[in-house]
Amino acid sequence: MTRTHLHSSAGGGASRRHILSMAAALPLGLAAAPRAPQSAPQQGQGQTLDTDLAAAIDAESEVQRRLVGDALESGAAYARLARLIQAAPHRLSGSPGLAAAIEWARQECHALGADEVKLEPVDVPHWERGAVQVVRVERSDGLGGEVLPSLALGGSDATPKGGVAAEVLEVRSFDELLRRADEARGRIVFFNRPMDPRLVETGAAYGGAVEQRVRGAIEAAKAGAVAALVRSMGSNVDDWPHTGGMSYQAGVARVPAAAISTAAAERLSGAIARGPVELFFEQDCRWREGTAPSFNVVADWKGREHPDEIVLVGGHLDGWDVGEGAHDDGAGCVHSLEVARLFGGFERRPRRTLRVVLFTNEENGLAGGREYARLHEAELAQHVLALESDAGGFTPRGFGTNAGAAGFAWLQRIASHLEFAGAGRLTSPGGGADIGPMAPKGVPLVGFRPDGQRYFDVHHTHRDTLATVSPRELCLGAGAIAAFLWTVAELEARLPRNT
Ligand SMILES: [Zn+2]
Repeated sequence: MTRTHLHSSAGGGASRRHILSMAAALPLGLAAAPRAPQSAPQQGQGQTLDTDLAAAIDAESEVQRRLVGDALESGAAYARLARLIQAAPHRLSGSPGLAAAIEWARQECHALGADEVKLEPVDVPHWERGAVQVVRVERSDGLGGEVLPSLALGGSDATPKGGVAAEVLEVRSFDELLRRADEARGRIVFFNRPMDPRLVETGAAYGGAVEQRVRGAIEAAKAGAVAALVRSMGSNVDDWPHTGGMSYQAGVARVPAAAISTAAAERLSGAIARGPVELFFEQDCRWREGTAPSFNVVADWKGREHPDEIVLVGGHLDGWDVGEGAHDDGAGCVHSLEVARLFGGFERRPRRTLRVVLFTNEENGLAGGREYARLHEAELAQHVLALESDAGGFTPRGFGTNAGAAGFAWLQRIASHLEFAGAGRLTSPGGGADIGPMAPKGVPLVGFRPDGQRYFDVHHTHRDTLATVSPRELCLGAGAIAAFLWTVAELEARLPRNT
């Protein structure tokens, strides 16, 4: 059994030698595993992959398999997530928890043998949830008193002390609110458009509904309302409210905003159908003066041949104050750190530098992602690829990318070898919030795509805890990400940039 025969058309001799050294260490079961077909060239968005290049990519598939196996065998990603959550269960920007998480990450990177670990300063907004959170039915068909499970939206102002009481106007869209603007004056506007349950991609369903949360307070205020309530961004009907970022607009009044659970939204909508409903709403969340100091954690494991060429993997270390941010985005952070650990398990480093970036302030500002792109602007031409994991720690399905036709064909070939792990699907578009600011500089971006059916059960809720993370699924995801990035980091040829 020789790799050289199987991969005789591979372009990179050094790469083949590397594979041979790997193969010697492979367990028998893996060495005998079936390989992906060698039928290059392959189409990817109309682009043909050069035969030698395809063969060089295929030659890394044994290493890819080994990485996935190692991730599953070690369980290290899950153990690391448990440590993160023990060190810092709540990690909202400006909080002591986020500061503790940053220090934790710095130490983890050192322990993983990083050549360089930097804490890069970022000023972040500082908002705090208060102790008072009440949405209560005051009057409805002669009834009242029911408390609706709610959470202040991140960034919302408090209600006036003593709360507000007003009749509710239910709408499904901003268009409907515009049409009924005369009914909104002095009312509480209730945005009740569900995430589209017909969409298999829950992220797309979220994208189709989340404007209500982000801009609801602005649109409600424009119509003269006194407050905004939004149906939680959840896939199911349950009584767990989901928080999340919202915004105000200069020149528009700032009205308080909160999310109510999806089940409460159904009950409230039913009551409104029977007649006028008056709600009492009080919350005492607040903005702290100015910004708070924070940091992106940036760690490098230098490449053996091209230390100046960077393959970046990251997640965001901040998280909402409810739950433990286990899926969002503790999972992405430990996925990223696990790539470093898995690469470090080899006798040789990949050709290019692996950089792990744990971003700050994704949830309520994106200051970390923007600052990274600004600070590293001169270096972005040498960012070969940036991957973000910020969709939960569930079973991997594949990757999404913004790569152009040439890069897409490469990445599709690379992903095709992860079919055995269920992670072989490459789709377009893709990327991540924190790496997004690098896109204008031509850096190909990739977003990890795990199964999304359960993500919006826990996303931004008290339920996003370690207990909802499957060790096996989390580790399989980490292995798939490491295996995907391995080939990009190791291949002699360099992934084409976006134009
Ligand atoms: Zn996130």
